[in-house]
Amino acid sequence: MIDFRSDTVTRPTPEMLKAMFAAEVGDDVFGDDPTVNALEQKVASMFGMESALFCASGTMANQVAIKAHTQPGDEVICHKLSHVYYYEGGGIAMNSGASVCLLEGDRGRITATDVAAHINPPNDPHRPLTRLVSVENTMNKGGGSLYDFNELQTIGKVCRDKGLKFHLDGARLFNALVETDETPGDYGQLFDSISICISKGLGAPVGSVLIGSREFIWKARRIRKVFGGGMRQAGYLAAACIYALDNHVERLREDHRRAKQLQDILNSLPYIQGVVPVQTNLVFFSLKPEMTTERFLKTLRENNIFALALAPQEVRFVTHLDITDEMMEKVEKVLRSLK
Ligand SMILES: *Cc1c(COP(=O)(O)O)cnc(C)c1O
Repeated sequence: MIDFRSDTVTRPTPEMLKAMFAAEVGDDVFGDDPTVNALEQKVASMFGMESALFCASGTMANQVAIKAHTQPGDEVICHKLSHVYYYEGGGIAMNSGASVCLLEGDRGRITATDVAAHINPPNDPHRPLTRLVSVENTMNKGGGSLYDFNELQTIGKVCRDKGLKFHLDGARLFNALVETDETPGDYGQLFDSISICISKGLGAPVGSVLIGSREFIWKARRIRKVFGGGMRQAGYLAAACIYALDNHVERLREDHRRAKQLQDILNSLPYIQGVVPVQTNLVFFSLKPEMTTERFLKTLRENNIFALALAPQEVRFVTHLDITDEMMEKVEKVLRSLK
């Protein structure tokens, strides 16, 4: 099976499983799980931040962060296609009772100028209080697009000047880090909170981490408990995350190489309308009207290849840990055989 639907479909490698089975565990709600503690300390120090919190999913990490930063009625500024708004089931409203101000922007990226223009005047009782700015890097709905770090720094300056909190949805931050010159420490300095997913390209079966100041993470820990996310012997999962951070970051470059290879193949095919320029591991493309998405996906399926339809004529391929060069050869053959 060649599964391009998402980078969440990976299974633990034999070495990762070994690390999981060897984990020392305890009850993490009591703070007693040494492996969870080790993961939280490892990630906090990697980003040069004070503290971190292991979460069951990226959605949980983002939603806990938004709840910790806001009061009901406050407003969150984010892109209209950002995961925190578009893909988290209305969680900003349901969990935090917060309002959103949705910005436009090229491939899911917002600008400092646009953020500054959408901060409500705090002395006007008609307007919700702007409290938080949330950005996403890489940007999922933007086809794995990358931010220019200078722009993020400028947004950060606007936030500091206006007393706003600044959150990064870094579900795929490591995909950005291997393509650019910045370090996790650069991001840690800029943001009040960062969420990272270890169950995406890094290949852990479960797990995200929220990072921030000691005070913020203490608040987040209470909220995680209220959301039902206090896990017990979670060290088995944390061990997979530690293994992934130690062994699966640099190899993300291979995923990016294969994504670019897919882009080149697709661009040479007569039934492809266009491919969104590949920057990381997401390949978004559209089919010409004469090739229906149904027929395209069905042919792939008959060859044990799976992809995701995003819109009527739009499909995505995502490369990841479980894709090999032999699979790429087979995929190329199947794609070229389609008429
Ligand atoms: C996948 C993803 C998340 C979190 O997803 P979960 O499935 O809840 O782990 C958050 N943000 C972005 C940008 C993502 O791509």
